[in-house]
Amino acid sequence: MLSYQHIYHAGNLADVQKHALLAVMLDYLGQKPKPMCYLETHAARGVYQLDDAAAVKTGEAEAGIGRVEDWFADSHPFSRALMAVREKHGEKTYPGSPAIAQALLRPQDSMQICELHPQEATALRLAMRGSGAKVHQKDGFETVMGICPPTPRRGVLLIDPSYEIKSDYKTLPGWIANVHRKWNVGVIALWYPILRDGAHEPMLDALEDKGFPKVLRHEVEFPPAREGHRMIGSGMFIINAPYGLQAEAQDLTERFVSL
Ligand code: SAM
Repeated sequence: MLSYQHIYHAGNLADVQKHALLAVMLDYLGQKPKPMCYLETHAARGVYQLDDAAAVKTGEAEAGIGRVEDWFADSHPFSRALMAVREKHGEKTYPGSPAIAQALLRPQDSMQICELHPQEATALRLAMRGSGAKVHQKDGFETVMGICPPTPRRGVLLIDPSYEIKSDYKTLPGWIANVHRKWNVGVIALWYPILRDGAHEPMLDALEDKGFPKVLRHEVEFPPAREGHRMIGSGMFIINAPYGLQAEAQDLTERFVSL
């Protein structure tokens, strides 16, 4: 039984890191006219109302995007996605990863996204209506493995588990290696939390041991959402990282250090 709901955390500093890097990757791939695909194992509901009681209760969005939005110029792909979702869904909204992809993909591109939780999947279908995105209310790991290698071959896969299932830390490196074997040109991006007790580290060691090509590992630290909270930062492990992403990562590092 899944209990995690991203509405409590949408727009927090971990989302800002993940979504800014995702937006830059999609923008970069979109600079060539060739079509691309966007795949996602764990999509959640796509669009968030930040005045929802759940978001207000944790205050994570307020301490996140509410505090750092001016880091991003209007021309930055993350800002463009923010503006597109607000125009469509209202001033108090925040784009989840599927809405960021929707804002940045072009008519020739395609999107297949998975969300297992029935309530979240229903909301996701509604948020993605008219976009041409294929929403699978199925296990993201099985579904994406079945899709790979996707058509077209150019594209990005985002893997963004809630890590509610603790075995994800153990199984992810092997699963990612299998996806990469089937789809060696795909940009594969994994989000992970930086945990006070270091519980994420064996997963990162296992990923490093695989020797994937063109890896960008980017980590930022930030004040915990609540006193004593385990998560003290977040990371992205990206295989076949597009050219130019390193500069964005460096910029984000400097911004987070200044917090
Ligand atoms: N990627 C989203 C974003 O950035 O806007 C947030 C995703 S949230 C961290 C994780 C989501 O994965 C939750 O909505 C949860 O219901 C869903 N989920 C958990 N296990 C899953 C699975 N095996 N397959 C698909 N979705 C799953």
